[in-house]
Amino acid sequence: MHQVSGMTDQQMQKILYVEDDPTCRQLVCEILQVKGYRMLLAPDSLSGLRMAQTELPDLILMDLSLDGLDGFEVTTYLRSVPSLRTTPIVALTGLVQKGDRERALSAGCSGYIAKPFNIQTLSDQVAAYLAGYQDQLSEKEQNKFLRAYNQQLVRRLEDKFIALGQSHEDLRQAQHALQKLDKMKSDFITLAAHELRTPISVVHGYAYLLMTRDEANYSLSSEEMVQSILQASTQLNKTINDLINVANVEVGDIELYLSPTQIDYMVEAALAELSPLSQGRNLSIELVGLSDLPAFSGDLQQLQQVFWNLLSNAIKYTPDGGTIRVWGRQVDANLEIVVEDTGIGIDPKDHLTIFDRFTVLEDVLYHSTSTTSFMGGGLGLGLYIVQGIVVAHGGRIRVESERHDPLQCPGSRFHVILPITPPPILPSNGKL
Ligand code: ADP
Repeated sequence: MHQVSGMTDQQMQKILYVEDDPTCRQLVCEILQVKGYRMLLAPDSLSGLRMAQTELPDLILMDLSLDGLDGFEVTTYLRSVPSLRTTPIVALTGLVQKGDRERALSAGCSGYIAKPFNIQTLSDQVAAYLAGYQDQLSEKEQNKFLRAYNQQLVRRLEDKFIALGQSHEDLRQAQHALQKLDKMKSDFITLAAHELRTPISVVHGYAYLLMTRDEANYSLSSEEMVQSILQASTQLNKTINDLINVANVEVGDIELYLSPTQIDYMVEAALAELSPLSQGRNLSIELVGLSDLPAFSGDLQQLQQVFWNLLSNAIKYTPDGGTIRVWGRQVDANLEIVVEDTGIGIDPKDHLTIFDRFTVLEDVLYHSTSTTSFMGGGLGLGLYIVQGIVVAHGGRIRVESERHDPLQCPGSRFHVILPITPPPILPSNGKL
């Protein structure tokens, strides 16, 4: 900091320079500092407003083209502050069109220095303004430019209102999205705790009964208890796999091991796994035309999971006695496989969001435990993983359903489209 000999900071005259261009700020600061002024620098209009009121400088140099509030508006505002009413405010500006000087003076500036300014005379000009020199406008000019300036202020105010309205709307939407995410997170924690606790209590409960077998006469045989333990541990395994898979889909890290494969084989394998769980639901499950489809290149295990998820949903959301049909056809170079049910259906407004992670349409408080009982539980990860695997194969998935209606049950159809030969470069979440 340069200091004129013998003068303290308090005695030096203070100049506030409001300027958003750092190079220009620095240059003016250097020039005036060596002349013994104490420089205060504000890089934008808001800090300019704040510093002017807290520091009460002896003179303010004002760039006029500032973002947000411009230099004209800052000047007009500062003129309304009683302690700054007579402070010289000098426009130091690149606005040099006809009328700019007059507009600056009408807005409340005491003087006007055009850029590029003269380095040799700048400090003298500043000294003159500090000594009370004022640029003058004739009364006629003053009235004319004041009117134009007022009109411009009103227009800018209107624009700001509109922009404010838009930002308010953007904020409202962002807040809504955050609230939705927050609810999804809370629901997910509720469901995850439920999905993990239920099978654990089954394992724990039956293990305890088996241990105390000799002391009581239970109606279930040991074999039936072991069977329940096995089912519960399968369910636990599935939940944990879902959580791992969802993380893989998220980071685009689904590894595919492609081999020639048949759709009918995968669907039958998925159904075989699900059959003990769907037993007792009196559902009719039909496979139509799948064995006529050509072999194609796919990851057997991952695609089996696709059909396991789609079929377990179909079973879950179809009331007892309903029908689930899986049919397929070749369309050009693709296979189209449709999993169709006579269940509760899905509202068209949800047709895209159900593929988002953690989307569960039913109120989680009413979730039942089993994976396959009517409207049974789930973490809202199944379709997200299904979509991830299908997309990794270069395919796509969509749903068709007229409406959601648990009484009339209009049904749903999930269409899976898979290329017979996946493209050589797979989409981002498919790795070979
Ligand atoms: P989850 O693993 O919890 O079942 P999904 O991602 O598989 O979650 O499904 C998300 C939501 O989509 C489910 O909560 C359900 O509301 C709806 N859904 C999925 N499949 C069907 C279907 N076949 N019939 C009706 N609703 C369905």
